[in-house]
Amino acid sequence: MRGIVFNMQRYSIHDGPGTRTLVFLKGCPLRCGWCSNPESQSPRPEILFEPERCSACGACVPACPEGLHSLRAGPSGTAHLVERVASCRGCGACADECPNGALRVSGRSMSVEEVVDAVMRDAPFYWQSGGGVTLSGGEATMQAAFAREVLMACRDNGVHTALETCGMADWETFRELAPHVDLFLYDIKHMDDEVHRRLTGAGNRRILDNLHGLFRMGKKVLIRMPLIPGLNDDPAGLEAAFAMLREEAARGADIAGVELLPYHRYGEGKYRQLGRAYPCGAEPYTEERLEAFKAFLAARSTEGLPLRLVRHA
Ligand code: SF4
Ligand code: SF4
Repeated sequence: MRGIVFNMQRYSIHDGPGTRTLVFLKGCPLRCGWCSNPESQSPRPEILFEPERCSACGACVPACPEGLHSLRAGPSGTAHLVERVASCRGCGACADECPNGALRVSGRSMSVEEVVDAVMRDAPFYWQSGGGVTLSGGEATMQAAFAREVLMACRDNGVHTALETCGMADWETFRELAPHVDLFLYDIKHMDDEVHRRLTGAGNRRILDNLHGLFRMGKKVLIRMPLIPGLNDDPAGLEAAFAMLREEAARGADIAGVELLPYHRYGEGKYRQLGRAYPCGAEPYTEERLEAFKAFLAARSTEGLPLRLVRHA
């Protein structure tokens, strides 16, 4: 079985316990304007192009079996164009030929064995730190069968497994994946269905239903709430999420903690490389606002949940 993987990141200490390898699977059902991995959204391989690095040498033109590259004369000299990006098959031939590193393929086909072999290279770090593997995306449940095989193989090797998810999948998908996941990292973007639809392109009912379902199954869940200035950081919205979590905790839900992830613009350059406009015009938070969020969490720290502000995300 093969999946489309767009990145593997070793030695992560932010996405689950201990030192971890993150496996990023391509494809996402949501379109959050603040997404910092826009190259994750399409389930297909894509080519990223940095014009600043391109010398218009033309080496990529004959390399592409789909004829997606061309050189055109323009007012300011010869320019390189990438067209019909949807036809890219992710072979990487153009990037291999580029002498300047101007081209990069996001998404390559990998077998379960290739992914698990790569994950197992860092096994000593997992044993030492209590770490493991975290499947991320995109939305890993969009490649559920592949994700399941990877999770099962990692578990068979004694590796702790985590799945980072936006929650937008059929319940059947979660029900099948859950036995192979030690920890879910689960996003709550807004508690109001309509606001959620406006922010992400989809309502939140299925997402919240799946979260409740995982709690009922006794799964351990770390809640993550991205904070986007002016879009979902209103106190009432945050309070609604905390009220729901308090109720769940009272019913015995295994909530590992709540992390607030303040907005950043790290993904902006990738939109340019994909030939897309950056959809989120928000400015990152000031130190003062971040301190206010810390105070918000501190005021709730007596509620029995580990709460923290994660600045890097
Ligand atoms: S990755 Fe392959 S198909 Fe895609 S643009 Fe490059 S050469 Fe063409
Ligand atoms: S091979 Fe690289 S530098 Fe040459 S035209 Fe293509 S993208 Fe530009």
